[in-house]
Amino acid sequence: MELSAVKKYFVNLKPEAQESLLSELQDLKDTSDYGLLERHVKQLDNRQGTCPHCGSLHYKKNGKDKKVQKYKCTSCNRSFTAYTGTWLAHIHKKHLLIPYLKLMKQGKSLDKIKEELKINKKTAFDWRHKINASIAELENNSFSGITESDETFFSHSEKGSNKLERKARKRGKSVKKRGITDKQVAVIVSADRKHTMDFKVACLGRITKDDITLAIGKKVEERTVLCTDGHVSYKGFALDNSIEHHVLRADLKQYVKQKKYHIQHVNSMHSRMKNWIDKQLLGVASKYLQNYMNWFYIKEKFAEPEFIERIIELSVGNTKAIKDYRDIERRYAVLMNLA
Ligand SMILES: [Zn+2]
Repeated sequence: MELSAVKKYFVNLKPEAQESLLSELQDLKDTSDYGLLERHVKQLDNRQGTCPHCGSLHYKKNGKDKKVQKYKCTSCNRSFTAYTGTWLAHIHKKHLLIPYLKLMKQGKSLDKIKEELKINKKTAFDWRHKINASIAELENNSFSGITESDETFFSHSEKGSNKLERKARKRGKSVKKRGITDKQVAVIVSADRKHTMDFKVACLGRITKDDITLAIGKKVEERTVLCTDGHVSYKGFALDNSIEHHVLRADLKQYVKQKKYHIQHVNSMHSRMKNWIDKQLLGVASKYLQNYMNWFYIKEKFAEPEFIERIIELSVGNTKAIKDYRDIERRYAVLMNLA
């Protein structure tokens, strides 16, 4: 239906009908995909937000700039909008973000997205990583009950960096566990049976106790019952944290103990992850691997109907997102001791 026809229909309605239609439309708008992007604006307008610069609760409205509401912090005196620091900052075509997220969810390639949304490929790439950077550290829950943890490896790839590329074959694809060298990037995958999960890019080569501590140390507690393979670093980690630990040694054909202790959930996550990185994305640059792990987390965690809503809900308030996004390369270098 043409908008003009809608308007014509509207003006011919009785006043009461117009009123109720308007309020229904407003509700529809608030819960629409696009309305979700505006949630953060509402929060600030309702005095439930904080200054992205200093965290203060004290701010006031301070005029508009190109229709965007500005605020001024009365503590640090700096200005901000609902988008400052978030992945939505400096994105002008915000009406394309929901369609973009939907295409990203469908696993569409950058070329496909570029074609469908008529944006350039660089923009499509930048948005992908801004979004992924914004969904880091969403999970604050601790692991409770049986918790599986196991690492998997991807070959180190400098794809997309300024340095000389290695042979085309080595494009951040996964590798077998045997014969681990420091040309391989370890990713620690951990999950309990209540859908709390964690995907952390850990180090180059074999993982140590410190890598495990850095990855999941804050998420284990008394109630955590750890299941791992025979890797000695996990033993040390469990001892340090005084948690129950069950070791499954595949070399001794120990796959399941007492019908419940096993690491088959994380191992099947490994294979879904590898399939996605290797076959769909055809390998990724290692510096972006954590970002892809963030997206993988979202893919594993949320089901279809709520998917987009949850991502937006979780990401629009992250005012550290742009900083993290700009810092991707440096953080990777520090983590891998390449700096
Ligand atoms: Zn402030």
